[in-house]
Amino acid sequence: MRLVIKYGGTSISATKDIQAIAKQINSLSKKHQIVVVCSATSGTTDDLIEISESIKKENKSKAEQLASKITNRHKQLAKQSIKKSDLQKKLLRKLDEDFSELLALIDGMVLLGEVTARSMDYLISFGERLSIKLISAAINDSGKKSIPLTGKEVGIITDSNFGESKPLMDTTRLRVSKTVDDLFSKKTVPVVGGFAGADQHGHVTTFGRGGSDYSATTIGSCMKADEIWLMSDVDGLMTADPKIVKNAKLLKEVSYIEAVEMAMFGAKQIHPRTFEPLLSKKIPMKIRNSFNVKNEGTLVTVSPSASVKNTVKCVSNVQNNGLIDIRGGSMVGTPGTAAKIFETLAKSGINVMMISQNPSESSITIVVKNTDLDKAVSALEMELLGKIIKKLEITTNVAIIALIGSGMRGTVGVASRVFGAIEKNKINVSMITQGSSELNLAFVVKNSDTSAAVRALHDAFELDKIN
Ligand code: ASP
Ligand code: MG
Repeated sequence: MRLVIKYGGTSISATKDIQAIAKQINSLSKKHQIVVVCSATSGTTDDLIEISESIKKENKSKAEQLASKITNRHKQLAKQSIKKSDLQKKLLRKLDEDFSELLALIDGMVLLGEVTARSMDYLISFGERLSIKLISAAINDSGKKSIPLTGKEVGIITDSNFGESKPLMDTTRLRVSKTVDDLFSKKTVPVVGGFAGADQHGHVTTFGRGGSDYSATTIGSCMKADEIWLMSDVDGLMTADPKIVKNAKLLKEVSYIEAVEMAMFGAKQIHPRTFEPLLSKKIPMKIRNSFNVKNEGTLVTVSPSASVKNTVKCVSNVQNNGLIDIRGGSMVGTPGTAAKIFETLAKSGINVMMISQNPSESSITIVVKNTDLDKAVSALEMELLGKIIKKLEITTNVAIIALIGSGMRGTVGVASRVFGAIEKNKINVSMITQGSSELNLAFVVKNSDTSAAVRALHDAFELDKIN
């Protein structure tokens, strides 16, 4: 098989795990052709983002301190994980070279006194530059040939939308498949840095937080992989957050479209565009736990087997959001009202998570993250209050509860079962949405009602009996 195996940060942040992964890749590569994709080690991307904050505050020494902290963490792991001394020495030298480049970059950014989207992407791509060297060296150390490649080096070419870039698939396909096939013919395992590529001018671009999943599926599609495995620290997709529901079950199989819905909400966060590259090629994906490889995890396919097709799959929750109810008589029957509201929010860079408008058109309700709430409210106040908007009503600390699964489609009585269960628990619902795909029924409750609401739905749909 041709396989892409992607490791999340927590899977590659301890010596014993790095060594275990190297051994596993070594043995799998006897039977399969493998491309490894890595995230940055735990906390590294956050530290790099903090460096950018320090630069903005003109605190150069703090930025440099953080850079040393990141480098030392990787050097420490290198010393503990790599046994052959020549390999270890070479790796430490490479890590030092990256460190020098990182310091030079910090210097440049401080000198200019600004953090642009472009310099930011270059900066935060360093996490994966370091992690791939470590993992590739560990695979070498286990006796299997391997080389580290950044997204740019493997051939991922993107548009120039820094921070949120997209691969230009035709060019990328040609380059990636050539790089990978050359290495396969030399029996070498490529270890590719996730999260980043480069635009046509060679400037490093990133895909947005969590983007290594997207790298894995992009590469998988380019090399016509038979399967893609996303390895992290959870067993797979679950029927609910196991911290809330004790008898939550692992989902053995879900469809792409269900997985897309779950990706946004679930305990295993998956980059929202991850599934895009798989759709046309219909490549199956497995979500697995690198700490529990005996477990097969969750299979995500285009056509799940009949027995799992028509079921409700899970109830998920996202807490700590704010609800904004936007009202105004002049909104009624005025084309363009919604456009103005969403344009105002978009200009301030606010992501809207949920939207509903009642048919009387006198109010539009939206949900945003708590952390975006201030910015959203002040943007709406400044631009639209007193014009098309009369009043804003705000509720903080609300949770979105979502029931997900293709089994809801065309099934009569789902909503009554949902709200019947909620009512029994005396929970107040302040907003409801269901798209016409009927894959996802979502509603909003107070944060403090989250657990009760999730448990009530998990019970009502007997999700503990799913497999
Ligand atoms: N290292 C990046 C992040 O933390 C990308 C990834 O982990 O997928 O967001
Ligand atoms: Mg990650």
